[in-house]
Amino acid sequence: MSLVKEINKRRTFGIISHPDAGKTTLTEKLLLFGGAIQEAGAVKSNKIKKGATSDFMEIERQRGISVATSVLAFNYRDKKINILDTPGHKDFAEDTFRTLTAVDSVIVVIDVAKGVEEQTEKLVQVCRMRNIPMIVFINKLDREGKDAFDLLDEVEQKLGLQVTPLSFPIGMGYDFKGIYNIWEKNINLFSGDSKKNIEETIAFDHVEDPELDQIIGAHAAGALRENLELVHGVYPEFDREAYLKGELQPVFFGSALNNFGVRELLDCFIEIAPFPRPKQSEERLVKPEEETFSGFVFKIHANMDPKHRDRLAFIKIVSGTFERNTPYLHVRHNKKLKFSSPNAFFAEKKEIVDISYAGDIVGLHDTGNFKIGDTLTEGEILNFKGIPSFSPEHFRYINNADPMKAKQLAKGIDQLMDEGVAQLFTLQLNGRKVIGTVGALQYEVIQYRLEHEYGAKCTYENFPVHKACWIEPDDPKSEEYTEFKRVKQKFLATDKQGQLVFLADSSFSIQMTQQKYPSVKLHFSSEY
Ligand code: GDP
Repeated sequence: MSLVKEINKRRTFGIISHPDAGKTTLTEKLLLFGGAIQEAGAVKSNKIKKGATSDFMEIERQRGISVATSVLAFNYRDKKINILDTPGHKDFAEDTFRTLTAVDSVIVVIDVAKGVEEQTEKLVQVCRMRNIPMIVFINKLDREGKDAFDLLDEVEQKLGLQVTPLSFPIGMGYDFKGIYNIWEKNINLFSGDSKKNIEETIAFDHVEDPELDQIIGAHAAGALRENLELVHGVYPEFDREAYLKGELQPVFFGSALNNFGVRELLDCFIEIAPFPRPKQSEERLVKPEEETFSGFVFKIHANMDPKHRDRLAFIKIVSGTFERNTPYLHVRHNKKLKFSSPNAFFAEKKEIVDISYAGDIVGLHDTGNFKIGDTLTEGEILNFKGIPSFSPEHFRYINNADPMKAKQLAKGIDQLMDEGVAQLFTLQLNGRKVIGTVGALQYEVIQYRLEHEYGAKCTYENFPVHKACWIEPDDPKSEEYTEFKRVKQKFLATDKQGQLVFLADSSFSIQMTQQKYPSVKLHFSSEY
């Protein structure tokens, strides 16, 4: 089959939400439609359960499941769908940011009662920065929640989106009667029975049809007609081009738990969502349909089982095909590597595959060759852009607690940072190492893994830093920059890529620095 045909079949996307909005439930229902799983409850949530924050072994155990759920692939109609898992827990937000570099679109799940929550805001902001096409799914309509129009307003205001509903609820909670599908022009009645035949839809060419009154009652029918009029008056017509550019976000309503409104979402998704898109490398724009293979590492999963210490590097294929036992260039190391057992993913299983296509994800067994952002090609020098580091929230000095094991410690820190567990900064003044993380939890994870995987011991010491700012001087030779570096020398460090970073101790100090040294730009992400 031609490469172009294979690429056009693929839909690689992520589901993002605040914890508990219903991401796992929705994922599971989507897999049921694909026939990839037979019953509900089959997909294990890799989410960190509440109250687990004090017991990180438990968290890692729960997170360990995520190797299986990192990529969930299934076929639906004539499409191959790849869902990339995105941890909702805020301590693992970096993981999610990186995964978003490998998706072609996303579905945002929002709880109808809670509305837009903190984690949703952060993740949507990253998607907006990258113009990733987004579909919004408002979940839990079987419960009392906010008024649909209020919620749409909230989504527009808090998330900075331009929405247009493609379905609209008829009632809510106790009075929830069903959903009018604006996209397909039909009604799906809600019975609250998850085993119900979900194909039971009633088509209407016009909502004015008097039969509607008979089916849902005159009152509900009247309210629906009014609401739809308002929808048409207030929101723009759906425009696929605008959606693909990230300028317009269609909204669906439903109840994932009751498998209600999910088929509508999926059917629309496979029609409108983008197939694999071209990706910018530092050298040039790389198109999926190019014959030669290229791809990049967006995630590395360590095996927590001490008996199997290997890691799995997840590669998003950007162009061409990835074939088993074929030598590919590891661009950063400038060496050729061959993979005898690349993993592809189907539902929650992984299996060895001979060939994968642009848009797919392959998992490669790795003994320490890869780090996040690495590029593989057939020989061309390419470096894919766009796996930025964001300023961590927590900073601590890391000290060696066993002088006999300094080498092991250095190696362990090095590899854990390549995996993206945390960020390392080395102070310019004295070479001391500082670990920056998004959540306090990672310190325990690092300490434990250093000990169990590398035989090294470490202790931490507080380092009161507010934010890491990546520095960009207008003129590296200017007096102002020299002066800045002299005055701030105690707070200057290099990150793992050797970029210079200013570790500011307060937002006030960032402000003062910006005022005093206007030609020295400060960025909160390593990509600017
Ligand atoms: P995640 O953290 O986003 O993956 O959320 P889950 O899928 O684990 O869902 C969180 C909770 O909400 C679970 O108890 C689900 O059973 C429940 N839930 C999910 N979807 C619905 C829904 O449509 N209606 C109701 N009432 N509960 C739901």
